Parts: sequence; C-alpha cells; structure tokens
Amino acid sequence: MRLFACDHCGQPVHFDNRQCIRCGHQLGFLPELVAIYALEADDGQNWRVVAEPERRVRFCANAELDICNWLVAAGDPEPFCVACRHNRLVPNTDTQQGVERWRRIGQAQRHLFYSLLRWNLPHPDRRQDPQGGLVFDFLEDEVQGGNVVPARTGHEEGLIAIRAAEADDVTREQARTLMNEPYRTLLGHFRHETGHFIWNKLIRDRNQVEAFRAVFGDERLDYGAALQQHYDHGPPLNWQDSFISAYASAHPWEDFAECFAHYLHIVDTLETARSFGLAIDPLGYREMAAEVDFNPYKAESAEQLVSAWIPLSVAINAIQRSMGQPDSYPFILSPPVVTKLDYIRQVIGGV
Ligand SMILES: [Zn+2]
Ligand SMILES: [Zn+2]
Ligand SMILES: [Zn+2]
Repeated sequence: MRLFACDHCGQPVHFDNRQCIRCGHQLGFLPELVAIYALEADDGQNWRVVAEPERRVRFCANAELDICNWLVAAGDPEPFCVACRHNRLVPNTDTQQGVERWRRIGQAQRHLFYSLLRWNLPHPDRRQDPQGGLVFDFLEDEVQGGNVVPARTGHEEGLIAIRAAEADDVTREQARTLMNEPYRTLLGHFRHETGHFIWNKLIRDRNQVEAFRAVFGDERLDYGAALQQHYDHGPPLNWQDSFISAYASAHPWEDFAECFAHYLHIVDTLETARSFGLAIDPLGYREMAAEVDFNPYKAESAEQLVSAWIPLSVAINAIQRSMGQPDSYPFILSPPVVTKLDYIRQVIGGV
C-alpha cells in the first residue's frame, strides 16, 4: 500500500484517513486514479477535488455510517463505490456491534480492491456477469437450540461469503487457534477467497487449465473428499517442502488461492516498505536498473520479489518479537512455492 499525501498541504496521509490532520481538508479515495485526494465542498452532496477542481465527486453511500471513504463520480447513478457495489448481505447496522463489524470488514474489502485495481484484475459485478460476477455476503452466525452455528467463509462461482463475527478479535483468534493456523485476518480471507474467483476468471474461463495443472497438480481431484481428508488426517508430513501453508496442501484450488493471497500480501507489503523509504532492493537489482527504485508490481520474476521479501519479512518478524507480538509473516517460501508464486505473477501480470 502506498503512502499518500494531502494535495492541499503535502501532509502524508494513509489509505483509510478521512481528514487531513494538518490542514483539516476532507479526504476521499478516488478508485479510478487509485489515490487519496483532498476535497472541497461543492453543492449539496458533491465535492470538488482540490487538485482537479473540474472533477466533481460524492462519497459512497456507505460513508453515511462512516463505513467507506471511497468516492463516486458526481454523475454516477450508482450510490455505492466500486468496492461496496459488490455487497449483497451486509451486517445488521441496528446495533453498534454490527456497524463496528462492517467498518472492519469494509476496511479489509477496500484493501483487497486496492490490489484488484492496481493489478487491473477483472471484477465484474452481478449485473455485468449474472452467473459468475463478484458478490459478497457478510454472514451472521445463527443460533440453533441455544448453540451458535458459525457462518462459513468461502467462495462459490463469484459469491464470496465472509463470517461477519470474524471481525471481532476474540472470535477470529478462537477460530485461528482451533484450526491451528499461524495467521488469520480479515484481509487474508478476502485475498484467499478472491483467489478462487480469479482462478475461475483467468484460468478456467481462459482455457489455461493445462498450464495450471503443470504447476499445481490436477484440480479434478474430488474437492469435498480432499477437504475431508485434510480435516480428518491433517496435511502430509513434509508439506512445508512444497506448500505455503498446511491448508494449501488440501487441494490444488486451495493451493492456488493461498498462493494468490500470499502474492498480494508480499507485493502490498513491499510497496508499503518502499513508500516509507525502507530499502527493499532485491539482490542484483541495483546493477540491473541503477537509477530506478524496485517496484514490486513490476517484478520480473518471483525470485526477484522473494529476494526482496525475505530480508524484509525477517526484519518485520524480529520487530514484532521486540514488541512481544507474534510473527507477522510466519511462513517459509520453499523453491516449489516460489515456482507457484511465479505462475501467479504471470497470470495476474498478463491481464
Ligand atoms: Zn492537508
Ligand atoms: Zn464504498
Ligand atoms: Zn479456499
């Protein structure tokens, strides 16, 4: 994620900021320019972009509950921004808990959309693609006979379900411990589930399945049985030699979704580091392109990306430990995983 600047006073501002703390200007994110802009009130609900006064915008309808800070062109008939217009079932906003959950979910969802926009990945909604467009349900748990039945996070043909209760730290941490996972976040869920959608759009629908199988194995393996096997018996003993996570070993589809999520984790975090002036140049990069900063969105290979990522992630983990926090990136990138990441790079870089 880039660090942005208020274009009225130059103050550095973050992706989720609503107001410049130095000059007080209202801020909004303009998806078509993939950046934060300072705004000045125009008429009624509309605003003018300070840097481009002829550009008139308004806030996404979800700004009303302070759930979203993205902008929509003033003339756009759609009330929601390009991220929120994909939502179908949203948390109940009658309660403060529901509003809080949705704020956290929305924040992670926009972070996902930042990556989709940066990579220019397809994200048709259900009007543009009624069968397989991208749509989100944020599901509440059900209570049956006094027992809580957790809603399921998952993907099916463009429909991504996210368990809303996982916006609460206690619930998500319980699930993480129960599943014996080293890492579990809302953003991770969004990136993983979107990986399944991207598989449909860029591999299945573009007849790229043969190339996929050469790297990830045969996805015609019975999916339900494979997951059951994973939950009953756990991952193979040496899973870390070939997979990014234990869950990735369950089925080639899960392996792809995990690698897609990690590709977004790595590129986004490298971009953040670069924004803050941290040295992230991969080995040998200076000699290849002396004057230009390494841009992780333009990596020429996964090896190049990983040679920048390993020292950075090791440093971040060490910083986390100094603060008594768990590692932020508790994963090992074995050579077969780097090969899979390179496949992801080619798939999403070639859109
Ligand atoms: Zn400012
Ligand atoms: Zn929105
Ligand atoms: Zn999955």
